[in-house]
Amino acid sequence: MLKIPFNKASLTGNELRYIQEAVEQGHISADGSFTKRCCEFLERQFRAQKILLTPSCTHALEIAAILLDLAAGDEVILPSFAFVTTANAFVLRGARPIFVDIRPDTLNLDEAQIAERMTSRTKAIVALHYAGVACEMDAIMSLASQHGIRVVEDAAQGVNAKYKGRFLGTIGDFAAYSFHETKNYTCGEGGALVLNHAQDVERAEIVRQKGTNRNQFFRGETDKYTWTDLGSSYVLSDVLAAFLFAQLEQLNEIALKRRLIYERYFEALKPLRDAGKLVLPVIPQHCESNFHLFHVLFQSQQIRNQVMDGLKSKGILAVFHYIPLHSSPMGMKFGYRQGQFPITEDVSGRLLRLPFYNTLSMSEVDWIAESIGKLL
Ligand SMILES: *Cc1c(COP(=O)(O)O)cnc(C)c1O
Repeated sequence: MLKIPFNKASLTGNELRYIQEAVEQGHISADGSFTKRCCEFLERQFRAQKILLTPSCTHALEIAAILLDLAAGDEVILPSFAFVTTANAFVLRGARPIFVDIRPDTLNLDEAQIAERMTSRTKAIVALHYAGVACEMDAIMSLASQHGIRVVEDAAQGVNAKYKGRFLGTIGDFAAYSFHETKNYTCGEGGALVLNHAQDVERAEIVRQKGTNRNQFFRGETDKYTWTDLGSSYVLSDVLAAFLFAQLEQLNEIALKRRLIYERYFEALKPLRDAGKLVLPVIPQHCESNFHLFHVLFQSQQIRNQVMDGLKSKGILAVFHYIPLHSSPMGMKFGYRQGQFPITEDVSGRLLRLPFYNTLSMSEVDWIAESIGKLL
């Protein structure tokens, strides 16, 4: 019997009321009043140029990939310790993923290894902010501007987190947020594209609207609604935007709950860290986390698996990720092989994500930590 699931979508209480409102307004397709309210809220809160809701973070990354005008053989630099769509969005456009190893502390792509992976075909760097802790954006942005390439932030896990006082997603050229059920703010499935340059907005709207100038037409900026570019249906139903708005309204309350859970885990596991039995997550001074997840690193893959199985037998579901992209079957098709990115491979074998959701209680956190201690 599962006593503590890995994740639970936590409701704020207004979701059903807002969905009912959206239904009663008679606008349940995309770009209704709740989409507008979500975007205005996010743009104001995060001081972003423009935010467009999408059906997922994956779709937002796909729009960014189209905006990059990638051609077959172009290269995109990204960590191998990443989610599949972080690579696939660009591979779908014919690009070749150029993997980079991660830093052993934040598990973000190692900015010191990017330059040596650049070639004349490099078009973009994808900065994935792991666990809501920022990549070293100053170094990444300056490298990108020196080489005239673009930066896409995979801020799926980074909504409402900061780097040197700036919200993640507002630093690169484009960024993608996720509102998937497993993320901090959710509508089940959902995402957003963040555009940080005014000149990219019109084209992004067109790509998102199936390659048509529909948004411009409805604003009265053009007299014909027609096919003008590449695109697909990258829009989110207003029913889901209504759900999302209920979550965004409690942005700070949710953030506080997650911080308390994170801090409790940290305190409860500290003695095990001090005894050298595990490694706790690192948040550099200049980063403000959104406490998206809590992970620990054990001494070996064998110990990690034993702890994971032991927790499961007590009814506690803890999980690991990511299978390195370079050693996956698809990565191998690009000519990568096991052994190329040692930190990624090492971390992937030793990492365990502990249960983390807004309604996880302090006594449950204590019990999980105590269970890990006993298993070790
Ligand atoms: C969750 C996640 C995604 C995908 O988000 P969806 O909204 O499910 O498409 C992409 N990248 C990272 C790093 C993620 O954690």
